[in-house]
Amino acid sequence: MIIVMGPQAQEEDIQRVSDKLKEWGYDSHISRGVERTLIGAVGAPEGEKESIAEQLSRFSGVDHVVPILKPYKLVSRESQAQTTRVKVGEVEFGSGQVGVIAGPCAVESEEQILEAARAVKAAGACALRGGVYKPRTSPYSFQGLGPEGLKLMVAAREETGLPIVTEVMNTQQIDLLAEADVLQVGARNMQHYDLLRAVGQTDKPVLLKRGFAATVQDWLRAAEYIAAAGNLRIIMCERGIRTFETQTRFTLDLGGMAAAQLETHLPVIADPSHSMGTHELVPQMALAAIAAGADGLIIEVHPHPDQALSDGPQSLTPASFHRLMTNLRAVAQAIGKEL
Ligand code: PEP
Ligand code: MN
Repeated sequence: MIIVMGPQAQEEDIQRVSDKLKEWGYDSHISRGVERTLIGAVGAPEGEKESIAEQLSRFSGVDHVVPILKPYKLVSRESQAQTTRVKVGEVEFGSGQVGVIAGPCAVESEEQILEAARAVKAAGACALRGGVYKPRTSPYSFQGLGPEGLKLMVAAREETGLPIVTEVMNTQQIDLLAEADVLQVGARNMQHYDLLRAVGQTDKPVLLKRGFAATVQDWLRAAEYIAAAGNLRIIMCERGIRTFETQTRFTLDLGGMAAAQLETHLPVIADPSHSMGTHELVPQMALAAIAAGADGLIIEVHPHPDQALSDGPQSLTPASFHRLMTNLRAVAQAIGKEL
């Protein structure tokens, strides 16, 4: 059961509902979004649900109560028909504005990140990406600059005004990344439940990548962990899954992305870079994702892809990113959205 609080609900209203639920034997999970607070109630005896829902719907500040049978409740479209808006800088993902997050795979040097930040800003990106802790398949690959890299991201934000998006790999890094505007949970960590709970206890937007061996249902339940811990500022990201196909790095599952949008009110974006693995295929899939209804994109852009320390082959140059943004604007406009 989900108790959907009205936009005007006060803190006392939320507390009153939560206290009452406890009294009735429910576990309650308060999840705060920008516009609304949702309260998930789990565990009351079957027979009492209807009368409890009826009583709660008359509480001050309560908009409506929805019974939900799905294992993901707070993030389910049934709990809220309207797409949740997640604000990142000037853009609200989920509002019909299409946001494009861009930047290098990893922060490598001051020159590199500043050059990338200026270029993606000039092309119209809404946020700067850049990993400082990198989950690499090989322990011998570049692992990121850590705190030093974050300082460089902060300097890039100061110069360009772009909010910064960076990956968190474990719970201890959350405090170290206090300066980040958006915390990314990577594909390899989509089922790292302690991490999901911990980012759920922050009030920062979380970019949740789909695991490459995760079904849409697994992915939605991972989002539910974050929401149940208190944070509804979640942006889902389809980044490709493993299939028998080896021609592309992963298989970008735009069908899964669209299916996820039916199931959840959270905004869903696509990552054409990690899925395709080569810059030659990134623009096509970026355009396809927007045409298919993605709420945004995350794209790797490097000022000198041939010198990149990670994911160079899939990184766009500033010039090709600029061209792509022009085409994306046209597609977004054609389907009644704004980039
Ligand atoms: C990344 O964004 O650089 C990254 C490692 O992505 P993923 O977790 O999707 O592989
Ligand atoms: Mn990468």
